Amino acid sequence: MTENIYADIIIDISHERLDHPFTYRVPVEMRSSVRVGDRVFIPFGKGDTMRMGYVVALRDSCSYPADKVKTIAGPCDPNAGHNENERALRLALWIKEHYGSTAITALKTVLPIRKSVRPEEKKTIRLRAGRSDAAERLRFYQQKHQVARARLLEGLMEVGEQPYSLVTDKLHITTPTIKSLEKAGLIEVSIEQSLRNPVKGGKAEVKELNLSPEQQSIVKGVLSDFDSGNPGVSLLHGITGSGKTEVYIRIIEGIVARGRQAIMLIPEIALTYQTLLRFYGHFGDRVSVMNSTLSEGEKFDQYERARRGEIDVIIGPRSALFTPFPALGIIVMDEEHEGSYKNENMPKYHAREVAIKIAEWDHAAVLLGSATPSLESYYQAENGEFRLYELNRRLTGENLPEVIITDMRAELKAGNRSIFSEQLQTRIEDRLDKGEQVILFLNRRGIVGSVSCRSCGYVVKCPHCDVSLTEHGRDRHLVCHYCGFSMPAVKICPECGSKYIAGFRAGTEKVEENIKQMFPRARVLRMDADTTTKKDSYEKILSKFSNEEADILVGTQMIVKGHDFPKVTLVGILMADLSLNTGDYRAAERTFQLLTQAAGRAGRGSVKGEVVIQTYEPDNYAIRQAAKQDYKAFYNEEMEYRKLLMYPPAYHMLAVQVKDPDENRALNTINDVRMFVDDENKTEPLSTVIGPSEAQLSKVRDSYRYVCYIKDEKYDKLVQYKDRIES
Ligand code: ADP
Ligand code: ZN
Ligand code: ZN
Repeated sequence: MTENIYADIIIDISHERLDHPFTYRVPVEMRSSVRVGDRVFIPFGKGDTMRMGYVVALRDSCSYPADKVKTIAGPCDPNAGHNENERALRLALWIKEHYGSTAITALKTVLPIRKSVRPEEKKTIRLRAGRSDAAERLRFYQQKHQVARARLLEGLMEVGEQPYSLVTDKLHITTPTIKSLEKAGLIEVSIEQSLRNPVKGGKAEVKELNLSPEQQSIVKGVLSDFDSGNPGVSLLHGITGSGKTEVYIRIIEGIVARGRQAIMLIPEIALTYQTLLRFYGHFGDRVSVMNSTLSEGEKFDQYERARRGEIDVIIGPRSALFTPFPALGIIVMDEEHEGSYKNENMPKYHAREVAIKIAEWDHAAVLLGSATPSLESYYQAENGEFRLYELNRRLTGENLPEVIITDMRAELKAGNRSIFSEQLQTRIEDRLDKGEQVILFLNRRGIVGSVSCRSCGYVVKCPHCDVSLTEHGRDRHLVCHYCGFSMPAVKICPECGSKYIAGFRAGTEKVEENIKQMFPRARVLRMDADTTTKKDSYEKILSKFSNEEADILVGTQMIVKGHDFPKVTLVGILMADLSLNTGDYRAAERTFQLLTQAAGRAGRGSVKGEVVIQTYEPDNYAIRQAAKQDYKAFYNEEMEYRKLLMYPPAYHMLAVQVKDPDENRALNTINDVRMFVDDENKTEPLSTVIGPSEAQLSKVRDSYRYVCYIKDEKYDKLVQYKDRIES
């Protein structure tokens, strides 16, 4: 029998020099209990300072002289379960390799901090009134337009009971509303000790929908691929409301019936109460939810319940990927194009890539879904690497909204200097008359200084890379972020000679002010980074709007996601072009996605909706195709462009960024990188190297940033460059 006498341990210190395992002796009392993945205390360094570390391997021998090896002081989490997870460790090491982080940050990403299970207080809301009483009361609330009360009652009539927090957070119901229903004896609120299951409640009644033939063939396709032992990756491209979620649920049911488990990834902000209810309806308390409001301990408990086989399905944002199911069968990724799937901190992993890797190891299927798939995914589907499924019609009889494009250059010519076109103004008046709601979406993604002409729509672009130049520094000189091309500030439009050429600066506050002037009777809510700094302000604003306490909601991208407001019949998109001119090769793709999503907010109820897109570039293909909601046409045009200019996914691209507080040193280093790559670049066909250039954010916290890009059709070549540059 081999004995675990030695352990290799990664120390919890973020320093690259220490980013390798150190060998320690396992004390006798820990030998039978220690497992790979455990956290332990160890003496480290000259003074034997106590540190924390992760056990990454266990061995019965050691190549060092025995008297040089220190001994583990003890376990960090003696009473908690074991991570026992070679799988997680392997994943952490893959993440470290692939995304270039340290082992310790990768480990911390993959293995949640263990806390012993402590019961916590939990509030639950339960329906007390009988069915017919409740139904009668509901009609009363609906007649009186007490929307919040009606919604709460209706929700509880469907499921019987719900966690308090879920009702306040996801259903946008406030405490006074709950109190008033409690007083009326319709509901009761109970407090109990719970094992920190964030969701609970009996199985909701489900309407068993008959799947459409298209839906059926997708469910069958994915499950038979799974059964064939070659599950692979499938991409489901389906317009909003085409029944994608229903397909996910049925496929997951099939996977669960086969004794396997499922991870359902959703961009956090898009997880609606309705979606949750549908999952509870099908999986009852065998489903759990993970989100950022859970504490570390609660998160760990979810992982623990998954490990013990208490749940079959977990719904959550990208961190739900690391749920240690015993026999994972599928990872579903809704809205797979979403930016939030990319981790912005180290390790900068992309959930899609990690999902595909995990699934490969676990022989599980991956199902990606979106109304506007990322170009990468659609490209892979076209190349046969992913299986492609499509859903092209809405199943509820709802119509797609009508989209009107207004040309803001023409408005300026006609003497309209305001930020609203005539068409939008008259429609806002009309909705105010009818008591319907309006969303005004200000596309602010591109606020970092692209420069364009308000008379003719001309945008200053890089002559080499065809992306917009952006303003930098006090003198407002213009820079290309790819090749480094730079030119002095532009004062007069080179196209038409107009002096109305400048960077866009208007913000949501300005829009709100303007509305109040032009439509004094309108009740306006504003949602942007400034009004949502407090923890629950985001939910509060949405709650007010869905309770019809305002007529117009003004906001940035955060308002276009997921939420359904049936009373919204008009969506205005202001400055649709802004995101076209961010100086990024993906600008058109992002614009198309944003506009398509924003347009999807209109007319989710019974009344057909309208969308007004205001733009200076009415002929731009991203705007035209978004107005027609024609993904395929957009994809084709966009791919032509990517091929022509050698951008991903047609080509692979490696960005090398240098940060240094000393500008000269930063510049020298990036020049060295360029020289090194030019030197290595000998095998035909040659890689294309561009730059160096100032980075998008060229100076952050007094550190100068420069970038240089390497493009090649072969991914492996880029990985080689990366490894050589790093060493
Ligand atoms: P998506 O996820 O593509 O937006 P959903 O699955 O949420 O689409 O479906 C949109 C609406 O259509 C939901 O109200 C859902 O209940 C309904 N629906 C889905 N599939 C069917 C079906 N086969 N028959 C009738 N209604 C359906
Ligand atoms: Zn001009
Ligand atoms: Zn350029």
